[in-house]
Amino acid sequence: MKHIKKLSASNKRWIAVFAAVIVCCILSIILIKNIGGRTAVIYKDGREIARIDLSRLTESYTIPLDGNVILVEPGGIRMQSADCPDQICVHQGVLHDTGRIVCLPNRVLIEMQHTKDAPDAKAG
Ligand SMILES: [Zn+2]
Repeated sequence: MKHIKKLSASNKRWIAVFAAVIVCCILSIILIKNIGGRTAVIYKDGREIARIDLSRLTESYTIPLDGNVILVEPGGIRMQSADCPDQICVHQGVLHDTGRIVCLPNRVLIEMQHTKDAPDAKAG
């Protein structure tokens, strides 16, 4: 019986540790959802050429990509101009949190990804 009492005491300690870990996990998930996780990934011909964390950006800049010019702003990304005939990518506007801009004629793709889906995390 003494043995069982000892176990339950250490069990209580473990429950406290697990509870703390779970609270930390929940908090980090909330933080990622609210603050981080706004990464724009640019593909050309199916290959990743840039990965930009929009939530950390402080000033806007442009990325010339053959006929396309991509404008990266703090919190947003859009196709500023393109030499494609349809101009659909330019008219798709600004990406903030989710979605994608596709320029089919020039095979350019801009896609919003969340930090938790980063390839580094998957590879682990
Ligand atoms: Zn286009």
